[in-house]
Amino acid sequence: MSGDWSQTWTFLDGAWHEGNVPIMGVRTHAAWLGTSVFDGGRAFEGVTPDLDLHCARVNRSALAMGLKPVVSVERWLDLTAEGLQRFAPDAALYIRPMYWAEFPGARTVDADAESTRWCLSIYEAPMPEPGRGTSITLSPFRRPTVECAVTDAKAGALYPNNARALVECHRRGFDNAALCDMLGNVAELATANLFMVKDGVALTPAANGSFLAGITRTRTIGLMRQAGIEVVEASLRWDDFKAADELFTTGNYSKVSPITRVEDRALQPGPVFRRARELYWDFARG
Ligand code: PMP
Repeated sequence: MSGDWSQTWTFLDGAWHEGNVPIMGVRTHAAWLGTSVFDGGRAFEGVTPDLDLHCARVNRSALAMGLKPVVSVERWLDLTAEGLQRFAPDAALYIRPMYWAEFPGARTVDADAESTRWCLSIYEAPMPEPGRGTSITLSPFRRPTVECAVTDAKAGALYPNNARALVECHRRGFDNAALCDMLGNVAELATANLFMVKDGVALTPAANGSFLAGITRTRTIGLMRQAGIEVVEASLRWDDFKAADELFTTGNYSKVSPITRVEDRALQPGPVFRRARELYWDFARG
């Protein structure tokens, strides 16, 4: 993507701004030392599934990053409703609430929580078509533990590690990369959570604090269980995924999407994936 941004509206300092509005200066703590958190929700077909949970999570992320979550979930939701008026009613949009530290704290590298700033950005982002599918490979990079990085926040600072995993896998001809945790169990993809299906049972890595156990993951697990599909959260190795009958992903951006190649093995979108996707869309459309 270049600087040719899709239609974007951002609420910052009490007003809506169009385009790629500047939010930081050269002395801003977050611009220098990475103290920012965000979340990503979506609007499409006039619905915003689980937006309240995404707003609640950005507030938890702020606390984990040592920031002050100064916007209530209700305020995030009201502002989003206001912002959505600026787009077509059925537009496919990404909704990004964000907090960051403006000033350093007493020791410079620490941030002054009292200087927390925030914005809410909403922009056009088409829903990916599930038709093409995704190819995945095992990344040589790993997810850090909470002792090594702020893995209990959805923080911008975690994403350069995911970015280098993506760059490395693209070089080898894959769309996305599976990262293991420090124990060698599969954690997640660089941009989404990962599910496998074996003998009709859906399995996904058990949340262990090293990866983002996503809102779409939790929602999809709940919907599948309600529909009578067995879902197991377990410690899983890459060999388990390579031998699966089906693979699919969950995440806010694409919701429920099929994986059509794992390493050199081609896969078809399977019946459990199809059911999970249908269940998600039924839920989203309310
Ligand atoms: N893992 C990573 C690294 C992600 O960026 C995302 C997308 N937010 C997810 C998982 C999925 O999380 P969620 O369903 O909450 O969007």
